[in-house]
Amino acid sequence: MVPMSASWVDELRSIVGEGGLLVEEADLEGFSHDETATEEIRRLPRAVVKPASEEQVAQIVRRCAELGIPITPRGGGTGLAGACVPSPGGIVMSLERLNGILEVDLHNHTITAQAGVPMGVLFEEVKKAKLFFPPHPGDESAFVGGVVATNAGGARAVKYGTVKRFLTGLRVVMSDGETLELGGKLLKSSVGYNLMGMMIGSEGTLGIITRVTFSLLANPGCLQTLVVPFDTIDQATAAVEQLLNRGITPCAAEFVEHAAIRCAEQLLKKSWPARQGSASLMFILDGTGEDEVTAAAEAVAAVMEAGGALDVLLAEHEAKQAEILEIRSMIYEALRPGAVELFDVSLPRSEIPGHVRRVHELEREHGIPLPTYGHAADGNVHTQSMRVSIEDGILGAPIEGWREKHEAARAGIYADAIARGGVISGEHGIGLVKKDFLARNVGEGAVAVMRAIKRALDPKGILNPGKIFDLERG
Ligand SMILES: Cc1cc2nc3c(=O)[nH]c(=O)nc-3n(C[C@H](O)[C@H](O)[C@H](O)COP(=O)(O)OP(=O)(O)OC[C@H]3O[C@@H](n4cnc5c(N)ncnc54)[C@H](O)[C@@H]3O)c2cc1C
Repeated sequence: MVPMSASWVDELRSIVGEGGLLVEEADLEGFSHDETATEEIRRLPRAVVKPASEEQVAQIVRRCAELGIPITPRGGGTGLAGACVPSPGGIVMSLERLNGILEVDLHNHTITAQAGVPMGVLFEEVKKAKLFFPPHPGDESAFVGGVVATNAGGARAVKYGTVKRFLTGLRVVMSDGETLELGGKLLKSSVGYNLMGMMIGSEGTLGIITRVTFSLLANPGCLQTLVVPFDTIDQATAAVEQLLNRGITPCAAEFVEHAAIRCAEQLLKKSWPARQGSASLMFILDGTGEDEVTAAAEAVAAVMEAGGALDVLLAEHEAKQAEILEIRSMIYEALRPGAVELFDVSLPRSEIPGHVRRVHELEREHGIPLPTYGHAADGNVHTQSMRVSIEDGILGAPIEGWREKHEAARAGIYADAIARGGVISGEHGIGLVKKDFLARNVGEGAVAVMRAIKRALDPKGILNPGKIFDLERG
């Protein structure tokens, strides 16, 4: 490990200026973790650098390459896989000062932003231009660079796809300090290897993203929200399949178990509209006009009733729609104080009922609550593994031996997802917390190719080493 000599600190300071460098322990703590709950993966960086230009990013990378100092790029720190936890002996590069919206192109329907722009700011700019950027990671303080580096998704993926579908251009500083300009404002490109594609989901291990161009859509303008309770989760997910078979694709189709929604109700002191049954579907329908969306809502209601729905509740008004979405979105926050980990498996969607059944078998076998919810139409299931009991939406006492129980449940959930043709992450990435399961999921051969790419693009191993996989086989 290279000692953090005063001259090295001074060199960093001379690149980024006094306000762009943190070295005091109290200042570094906030950069030792992301949103992942587990304490044991936290690590203090040796320093945090905040470059204010792409040239500064390149200068820092060149110097760190010479000294062999690992760099972990950091966006909003909202990740759920421990991917921006500093590597041993390394520094964090926070992209927060690269925060300019560079262009909204109304002719080509694109937006170009520096990597440190928070998604909330990007959404506002897009809205002002009366355009639409569909991917919506639940936490809008995620940065533009971070959502590319994790290939974020969100609830609207069923109709519109994940971040990779909208990425048309990137600027990336590579491990030797060279800057690559990849893509542009193009919807089509066939010019050799898809280097831009390789950066998507690379979690800071192949390059540091400094600038992003996304394509945008026309704003659909009109929205309606439906809540549809069912006796069982099996009925609910089967009804979604029927809907898609009929050619109706909602903007979002979420499933929630009522046991989980009760926790969000308790936190917010608000009520989910459906009281009957054990699970609900929540649909968001979008379209250019009211007639179109109302016709879609009627079609959805007919399919749901035929599929055994206990009721179909329509929220036409914006305030009610926002309240329903808020309750759904706050499940994670409501469970978080007693949670160990949020799983993120992605399955062929017809496998959701079987997987959720298996999750509840594991819950009984291991004696820890595993509340489950997710994106019903795109197969992405979130189960939150708990270290405390839950009674009527209230978090209770710690569960004895929760760590071992959690580990066993996790292994069972991943084994089931893989056996069903799924993957261990649909949108959060691998980071530190899932890397032990990567080879079991994609195979040793695929991991060997990933290692070869990493070695070729980052021969000194300075870019976020130890994330996704270890360079040496464990
Ligand atoms: C309440 C909540 C809800 C969420 N809901 C969703 C959801 O619905 N869908 C979803 O997909 N995710 C969701 N997430 C997860 C999270 O928001 C995403 O993973 C997000 O994409 C991470 O962006 P970030 O800027 O916070 O990245 P960080 O957490 O800072 O970093 C994530 C990874 O990206 C790398 N990275 C960051 N910036 C760069 C860069 N400029 N260049 C290269 N690498 C970089 C880091 O090194 C790290 O490996 C949720 C998180 C929370 C807390």
